[in-house]
Amino acid sequence: MAQKYEVIVIGAGPAGLSAAMFIARQKASCLVISKDLGGQMNLIPKLENYPGTILSSGPLLAKTLENQYLSYGGEMMFDTVEKIDFENNFKISTARSDYIAKTIVLAPGKVPNNLGLENENKFANKGIHYCTKCDAPFYQGKITASVGVGAYLLESGILLSRMAAKVYLIFKGGRLGGDKDMIASIEQKKNVELISNSTIKSITGENIVNEVTITNSSGIDKTIQIDGLFIEMGSKINLDYVKHLVKLNPKGEIEITQGGKTSHPAIFAAGDATNIPYKQIAVACGNGTEAGLSAFNYVEKLNGKPGIRADWKKKIGDTVFHY
Ligand SMILES: Cc1cc2nc3c(=O)[nH]c(=O)nc-3n(C[C@H](O)[C@H](O)[C@H](O)COP(=O)(O)OP(=O)(O)OC[C@H]3O[C@@H](n4cnc5c(N)ncnc54)[C@H](O)[C@@H]3O)c2cc1C
Repeated sequence: MAQKYEVIVIGAGPAGLSAAMFIARQKASCLVISKDLGGQMNLIPKLENYPGTILSSGPLLAKTLENQYLSYGGEMMFDTVEKIDFENNFKISTARSDYIAKTIVLAPGKVPNNLGLENENKFANKGIHYCTKCDAPFYQGKITASVGVGAYLLESGILLSRMAAKVYLIFKGGRLGGDKDMIASIEQKKNVELISNSTIKSITGENIVNEVTITNSSGIDKTIQIDGLFIEMGSKINLDYVKHLVKLNPKGEIEITQGGKTSHPAIFAAGDATNIPYKQIAVACGNGTEAGLSAFNYVEKLNGKPGIRADWKKKIGDTVFHY
C-alpha cells in the first residue's frame, strides 16, 4: 500500500531541503523525494556567496541542510518522480513506488545544458563553468571565453568584461542576438572580442583548461589561450509529470506568487524551476522556506487550525504569539 504523508517535497536542492526543514520542524509528516542530494550545489566546489559562511562548498551545504531536516524527523527517499495524479489527495508515482500526500512542494530545479564535447566533464570547475554570475569573480584579470546563446551570452560577456583582462564571446550566428542596449554595451568594451559564425571544436589542457579550438563557418580552425570557459547555453527544466496541474510560463517555469503559491491551491513551488528572477542558492533557500511554511499552513487549515505566520513564537503571560 502507498505510504501517506501530509507533505511531499520533490527535489533535494537548497529550495526543497529548506522547504522540508520548515515543514518537519512544525511536526508535519514530510517526505523528500529526490534523484540526488544537493542538485546543482554538487557543481560548486567553492561557495563564496552564501550569507554567513565563507568556507563552504555546495556539497557541504547540501549535507548540512539534509542533516538539519532529518534532525526534525523528516524522511528522505532517493528516487525519480515520474507522475502525479490529483483527486482528493496527490498520488506521486516514482520509478519504484507510489506515495500519497495532502499537499506537495515542487522544487525540481534545473540542469545546465552542455556543449557535448569530449573533455567537457573532465574540466568542469577546472576552467569550465556553467554559471557566469556565480563564478566570474574567480577570473579577475584573467583571459576568459564565453560560448552560448542570446541573453545568457550577453549577460556572461557583460559580467566578465568588468573583471577579466580579456573576454572572447563565441557564437554561431553572424551577429549577437538579444537586447539592443546590452549588445551596444558589449560592443563598446575594449576587452571584449566577438568571434561570430563559430563553434568550439575542442577543449584542451593538462589538469585545467588552457586552450580552446574554434571552427568558423568556412571550416577554418583557430586556437586561443584561455584561463576559463563559460558555457551559457541555457538550462533544462523537466516538468512533464506536473504540467497538467500547475501553470507554467512561456519559459517552462512554474508560475508562483508570494508564499510559493502556484495556480493549484494545494501545490507550492520554489527555486530555479519557478519564475523567480534570481537563480541563486540564498534565494532558493528563502523561497523554499516560504513554500514550506505555506504547505504547512495548507495542512493546518485542512485540520481546521489557523496556521502560523512564522517558525518562531513568543509567550506573553499565558498566550503564545506566532509572528
Ligand atoms: C555550475 C553552477 C554553479 C553555481 N554556483 C552558484 C554559486 O556559487 N552561488 C549561488 O548562490 N548559486 C550558484 N548556482 C546556482 C544554484 O546552484 C541554484 O540556484 C540552486 O541550486 C537552485 O536550487 P533548487 O533547489 O531550485 O534546484 P536544484 O539545485 O537544481 O535541485 C533540484 C533537485 O531536484 C531533483 N529533481 C529534479 N527532478 C526530479 C524528479 N522528477 N524527481 C525527483 N527529484 C528531482 C534534482 O535531482 C535536484 O536534487 C550555480 C549553478 C551552477 C549550475
